[in-house]
Parts: sequence; C-alpha cells; structure tokens
Amino acid sequence: MIEYITNYPSQTKKLGGILANKITKIKSKREDALVFGLEGDLGGGKTTFLQGFAKGLGIKEKVLSPTFILMKRFKISHLAIKPFNYFYHIDCYRVQKTKEILDLGFKKIISDPKNIVVIEWADKIRKILPKDTFWVKFSIMNKGMRKITFLTKSIVIK
Ligand code: ADP
Ligand code: MG
Repeated sequence: MIEYITNYPSQTKKLGGILANKITKIKSKREDALVFGLEGDLGGGKTTFLQGFAKGLGIKEKVLSPTFILMKRFKISHLAIKPFNYFYHIDCYRVQKTKEILDLGFKKIISDPKNIVVIEWADKIRKILPKDTFWVKFSIMNKGMRKITFLTKSIVIK
C-alpha cells in the first residue's frame, strides 16, 4: 500500500497519467482484462484521476463523469499501450444491483485481455470483480487536498 497526497486537480491528473505510462510494465500473466477499482469519497478525484489516465493512454476524447451513462468505451490507438485495444470507464455511483452492470456484458468485457477497465465506486460491485483487481482509494483531506492510496502493492509508482 502506498499513499500520495495531491494539492490540485492537475496533480491528481498527473498521477493518473503516470499510472497509464506504467501500465505496459505491470507484469502478470493475464488471460483477462486489466481491472482497476476506484473507491472513496464523492469529489475525491476519481474522475479527475481518470482524465489524466485516459490522456496517458493517448485518448483524445475527454473523460466525463458519466452521471447518466453507466459505461463508456474509448479506443486506444497509442502504439506504446499495445496490446490494449479499449479503455472502459464504468461509474457505479447510481448502481443499485450488480445485475445492472452484468447486463452491459460485463463478464465478457473483463475477460478480454485487450481491455483496460476502470470502475468508479467499484466497491458497490465488489462481488463480481476479479480477484486481481487493482484497488485505488480516494479521500478528501480538505478543500484542495486529496489522499490517493494504491491499495494493491504491485502498482506502486516510483
Ligand atoms: P469523484 O469522481 O471522486 O466524485 P471528481 O474527480 O469528479 O471526484 O471531482 C473532484 C472535485 O474536487 C473536482 O471538483 C475538483 O476540482 C476538486 N479537487 C480539489 N482538489 C483536488 C485534488 N487535489 N485532486 C482532484 N480533485 C480536486
Ligand atoms: Mg466520478
């Protein structure tokens, strides 16, 4: 587990970008998707972090808080990020039952090794997530300060 403190949204975006750049270096014999579970405070910076993450994956479209959309798929064309093809952004803020996510073809999405799947409010659907999900927790310290904790050791950013 490792904690980062950010003082501005731009720093949180940068941390997301650094994680994106490290992704090809995450060593695991994966036969399924790379899944990140984001949890923690509302306004903690999950979407902000993802904006930097998506930019780091070479995605030009802006990642928004999908308040009314549960899931959005982005094509990854950045050669450095190959072998990944798609980045899925899922937001479970409004989810009441895991079935709502399963109905989106979730099992198939998380079983494709060419997918990167990042889920906000992932703790709400914990029971359907893979065991090797990388967990990141966001906490509000004060107005501009956020604590971002990588709960899974193997994604430590140095
Ligand atoms: P979440 O997706 O976790 O609900 P958002 O990323 O949508 O959070 O919102 C974070 C809010 O907090 C934004 O309004 C942002 O401007 C503000 N903020 C203030 N300080 C920070 C920081 N250090 N990192 C990220 N966001 C911050
Ligand atoms: Mg959000």
